[in-house]
Amino acid sequence: MITIKNAHVLYGENMDLCKANIIIEENEIIEVSEKLLKGKIIDGKGCIAAPSLINSHVHIGDSVAKDMGDGYSIDKIVKPPNGIKHQILAKTSSQDIIEAIQCTLDLMLQTGTSTFVDFREGGFEGIDLLKKAGINSSITKIILGRHESFYNSNNSRSELKKTVEMILKSCDGIGLSGFGEVDDEITTIITDICRKNSKLSSIHVAEYEELQISSLKLTGKTEVERALKAGFDLLIHVTFPLNDDLKLISETGTSVVSCPRSNGSLCVGIPPLKEMLDLGINICLGTDNLMFNSPNMFSEMEFALKVTRAYYKEYISPVEIFKMATVNPAKALQLNSGMIKEGKLADIMLVNGLSGDPILSLINRTQTQKINALIKEGNIVFKRYK
Ligand SMILES: [Zn+2]
Repeated sequence: MITIKNAHVLYGENMDLCKANIIIEENEIIEVSEKLLKGKIIDGKGCIAAPSLINSHVHIGDSVAKDMGDGYSIDKIVKPPNGIKHQILAKTSSQDIIEAIQCTLDLMLQTGTSTFVDFREGGFEGIDLLKKAGINSSITKIILGRHESFYNSNNSRSELKKTVEMILKSCDGIGLSGFGEVDDEITTIITDICRKNSKLSSIHVAEYEELQISSLKLTGKTEVERALKAGFDLLIHVTFPLNDDLKLISETGTSVVSCPRSNGSLCVGIPPLKEMLDLGINICLGTDNLMFNSPNMFSEMEFALKVTRAYYKEYISPVEIFKMATVNPAKALQLNSGMIKEGKLADIMLVNGLSGDPILSLINRTQTQKINALIKEGNIVFKRYK
């Protein structure tokens, strides 16, 4: 049993600030109480106790291609199968890829991230590679796989179904690169099989204007409409919605993963976070490709907050941004974490308070060295207090 005492606790779904002790038994928060003290005591004096962070979208495999391809078009950098990143991956040894991924996993934990969702490329081998790299890491890895054969529309439907079923046996769902590579019939087959197996389905959509225009020309529908019709659980980007896209997302209750720093790196726009918030869409944040971004969710939150305020010239609440890295993804991914509350998994970070506003202290001022401890499912992953 562990008690975190004396910390400023961000409690529950709305991150209500309270001064209380958090009692952890095995992997769970069993009580948040003003007086109780049980088991091993961690003194959180001067610290904020907050739910640890969930990074809802990364491509961790390109940890070996950091900052390569800057200035080229998005297709030239990341479009499968011949983008710059795919060329680099093809000529890098598995061992080097594994070591680069391991450094990224450590960095994520050091920056308060206890769960991430990876768009895993490379079929079955790609999934094995990440599992091998992460075997000794306590971070939760949600792996969304894919297979080369999805891009081949001449493949028989029964063959496709078999491959999807097989892939789902070794991962948590399917993550597709986009409608440029797969057609509507294939996406519907994939989402159906995911649903039947209680696995996640996800796809990049509406990342930039040209994709939406060519989708409309080709099919009469936006990428968002096609993704919703196919029944994907998680839409990545939606940086350039058209027509009724956002309304439809809101009506279907589909979650969106926004990656503002990635959109900035690739010069494609600023995600419409304010419109999505106004419509009550469940928004999560992801750091996207390791190629253009560090996997640091504090950086993502700070950029999301400030670029959105600057773009709309309007106040955006920092609590809403913090929820995009905690409560919202927990809901989208059906995790029993993302908040400090009785009955939730004890995924908690203890961070030095650096200002009079705990949420802004986290978003504006927290750097790696300001994290005092990370607790993952009740285990102390690292600590810097005495
Ligand atoms: Zn992506």
